Amino acid sequence: MRNLVRETKLSAHDFVLPLFVSEKIDKRRPIASMPGVFQFSLKEVVDEAQKARDSGLQAILLFGIPAKKDEKATGAYAEDGVVQKALRAIKKKCPVFVVITDVCLCEYMSHGHCGVTRVDGDHFHVLNDETVDLLVKTALSHAQAGTDMVAPSDMMDGRIGAIREALDTNGFEQTGIISYAAKFASVFYGPFRDVAESPPQFGDRRSYQMDCANADEALREVALDIEEGADIVMVKPALPYIDILWRVRERFGKPTAVYHVSGEYAMIKAAAEKGFLDERAAVLEIMTSLKRAGADIIITYWARELAESMPS
Ligand SMILES: [Zn+2]
Repeated sequence: MRNLVRETKLSAHDFVLPLFVSEKIDKRRPIASMPGVFQFSLKEVVDEAQKARDSGLQAILLFGIPAKKDEKATGAYAEDGVVQKALRAIKKKCPVFVVITDVCLCEYMSHGHCGVTRVDGDHFHVLNDETVDLLVKTALSHAQAGTDMVAPSDMMDGRIGAIREALDTNGFEQTGIISYAAKFASVFYGPFRDVAESPPQFGDRRSYQMDCANADEALREVALDIEEGADIVMVKPALPYIDILWRVRERFGKPTAVYHVSGEYAMIKAAAEKGFLDERAAVLEIMTSLKRAGADIIITYWARELAESMPS
């Protein structure tokens, strides 16, 4: 009877798998704080994308770790950058599989911030407009390498509109934008910075990520990104912000994604390792809750395991 009247059903099509490709390695490197998550070499990431597709998933979200970082994040928009190379290789093997690429500068900046910075004595500023110029360059180079959607994760003002305009004027009207519209400054990103090798070398990201106390501000940020041309809006992290997810889906009715982040993943893994929780049951309950709260797309490190165990 419960099966007959269940309102929320999960499918393999609900999930997107984040994949990390590193130019610095030849063999997969495990991430201590995220059991089961790896950095992959350029060669391996193609196999991982194929495995993801074969599991029934529709899409992956690709992050790059360059061999070198600098003050201008050159690697983010280089034609032979790590993401650009991985993209071309994946698209060659899996032409109809959706590849979404992360657009940010933090992995490519020597200081680890998401934008161009200026330091005045003890203070530092992230320069919004200079950063947007580099984000636009990065998004365009991803489009040229064959990305289906770019995912700007930086939270600078005006970047969605600028990226949309640049894509359109360069013949990439079909390239979509999934915007990290409501990205909160969160302790739950900790393990991700290990895997993406992007912890800020000074200061923190609170000047450009949102305060966890503010919900109305999140709705305003989402409204702006939609106005500027975002095709899909994202809320990040997931469970502590499930009210935001619900309000965004209800208010705007846009395709809405949620990112179940590294710290949320690590908590369940750690509890399961200690025998405090049944991992599989916990994961299914969380994913069902996120979908019930309005998520059309759930980005999760469990995506492949979930897809393998359910109908598509
Ligand atoms: Zn960033």
